[in-house]
Amino acid sequence: MINHLTQLLSRRSAPPDRDSSYAGGQTIRREMFLIGLFCLAAIAIVVVSMQSMGIYRAGMDSARERITGANRQISSYIEAHLEGLAAAVRIMAATPDVVHGDTGGEESRERARTYFRFVELSNPNVKYCYAGYEGGELLINGYTPPEDYDPRIRPWYAAAVRAWPDMKIGLPYRDIVDGEWLVAISSAFFDKSGLRGVVSVDSALSRMDGMLNSIKSFTSQSNYVINSDGLLLIHNEKTGFLDQNLETIVPGAMDLFTGDAGYVEYLLPGVGTRMAYFTRLKINDWIIVSAVDRDEVMTPIRRRIALTVTATALVTLLLGLLQLKTYESRFVEPFLTLKRRIADITSGKEAGRKPPSFSNAELASIADSIEGMTQSSLRRKAAELRLILETTSDGLLVLDDRDRITHYNQRFLELWGLRDKHVGEGLEGFVIGHIRGSVLPESAGGVLETRHQDHNSQLVYLKTGIILEQTARPLLEDGNVTGRLWSFKDVTIKIMAEEKLRLLAATDELTGLWNRRCFMGRAEAEISQATRLRQPLCLVLLDADHFKRINDTHGHAAGDAALKYLANTLTSRLRSSDTVGRIGGEEFAILLPNTGLETAHTVLEKIRAVIEHGRFTHGGKELTFTVSIGIAAMQGSRVSIDEFFSIADAACYRAKALGRNRTVVLSCDGPRTDETACTQ
Ligand code: GH3
Ligand code: MG
Ligand code: MG
Repeated sequence: MINHLTQLLSRRSAPPDRDSSYAGGQTIRREMFLIGLFCLAAIAIVVVSMQSMGIYRAGMDSARERITGANRQISSYIEAHLEGLAAAVRIMAATPDVVHGDTGGEESRERARTYFRFVELSNPNVKYCYAGYEGGELLINGYTPPEDYDPRIRPWYAAAVRAWPDMKIGLPYRDIVDGEWLVAISSAFFDKSGLRGVVSVDSALSRMDGMLNSIKSFTSQSNYVINSDGLLLIHNEKTGFLDQNLETIVPGAMDLFTGDAGYVEYLLPGVGTRMAYFTRLKINDWIIVSAVDRDEVMTPIRRRIALTVTATALVTLLLGLLQLKTYESRFVEPFLTLKRRIADITSGKEAGRKPPSFSNAELASIADSIEGMTQSSLRRKAAELRLILETTSDGLLVLDDRDRITHYNQRFLELWGLRDKHVGEGLEGFVIGHIRGSVLPESAGGVLETRHQDHNSQLVYLKTGIILEQTARPLLEDGNVTGRLWSFKDVTIKIMAEEKLRLLAATDELTGLWNRRCFMGRAEAEISQATRLRQPLCLVLLDADHFKRINDTHGHAAGDAALKYLANTLTSRLRSSDTVGRIGGEEFAILLPNTGLETAHTVLEKIRAVIEHGRFTHGGKELTFTVSIGIAAMQGSRVSIDEFFSIADAACYRAKALGRNRTVVLSCDGPRTDETACTQ
């Protein structure tokens, strides 16, 4: 039962009273935050991905639109430019003065040159307008050809003849005068006799550079024109490209420009990936290309994506914190409040405190249930504890780790002579002081003293004579000692009975003197001590004379009375340090420590005389008897117990033999002293 009580009192399963024992609230907070953040992060990732894709697509579309717009503008301009020149050439080729410029006479040639000037002046892009004839003549304004000049071997002439019946639009060649790159639009003309000549308009390619440069949507944008063979005709940055083929700069580039228009991407060595839009001119198959660095397009897109991701992450974090705060105030805090309330209830601190209110009805109902269950469980435990405390016959006292009383029973109060008010007033100091003051000095050090090992029982002797058996048992909480259960059992009767039994086993029932067995034990001890300390020791054997007669004459009871009288006489006349025993029917033995032969003789002789002259009363009669005494005296040298007894026996025998009622002393050392003193 005490074990059960100890378990009941140990707070192994009780709720803790400190928040730190449970990191519950912290964990819930952290978990809620993490779960919330995880969900928001998942949503954020989806949103950010979609946004990023949108930003990428929109950015790319916008970039493409800008490149396309620029390219179309340039293409339209160049096409319009070429068409304007082609129209002039077509008219020239159909003008009779031009067709017959070599044979029509000076007036006709003059008119033709006037037409040429008209074309040159009407279009600032036109450098020359001229005609070559099969006869080798050249009709032109402001240019005197060299001596051996033959128009029929010039590239523009041959190209126009080859292109017939179409015009040759856009033949690049270097000016024979200043080496400038020109582009020629030329058309052959015929009469009834056949090929008559070729009329041509030259436009300086450099005149288109400015326009190509002015239309730029990106810093890295280049606009250039190639012919269908890949020859670079015009480039807004590098005129040096004009006699190069694109294929030598970007191998395989010409395979990309298929169809009339479209997007292409290619790797420009030393620069990087270029995004390009091209348009193929219908008029002469020239390809107008507008290209930009992919990086320039991507950089703002990447920046916008990074900005969006950062903003979304920040918003997610803020929402996460907001969510945490909401969950915390609506769910975590109420539970922590409930936890504190339960801890207060279990530690008895809630008395008088208002129960917490919960805004959420469901939470309030859960809190009510938990509180109710806790209260009823505590009531049940308290009743169980009270029952156990009051059912046991032991006095029980429970102290906490600071020696404050937490439980006790009525039996405890009874045993220590205390009252409820002593404990109820919280006077632990008084109670413990009272207990320690109620015990005999030899028990004072052990009562309610935890230095002693737990579970060890010890006897506590009260000043009132009550003997208590005290036991301490530790109360454990998670392996730590939080207090002790002290039990006190009244063992007075048991201890006294044991004491009595022990005494009975060692003494003679009739006289109360030590019996033979006990006397022999003491004799051994006295002999050892006397030998060790080199002190004298005397052993006395005393035998009643003719004792049989007393029994025979006055009855056995009279004999018993005589023996008691004799025992009393001996104990009253001897020192407390002397040992007196009854070792036979009417035989007694005495040990006189630190007593010499002479003294022993004197003392025993007095006793003998007292008995001789004394009277004891039995059955209304006064009776008398004598004793014979033999003394063995040991003076320092060791004598065995048997030898000591045999010498004393011999002395007693001598006293009997000498006529009884006398004392004979024999020394164990040296020659025996016979009849040292004999008295009749
Ligand atoms: P002696 O002088 O030679 O010692 O003679 P005695 O009669 O004393 O010696 P004996 O040994 O012959 O007798 C001892 C007697 O003591 C015998 C017995 O009846 C008596 N006696 C021994 N124990 C007790 C006892 O406990 N009570 C009584 N009443 N008598 C006892
Ligand atoms: Mg005898
Ligand atoms: Mg006798």
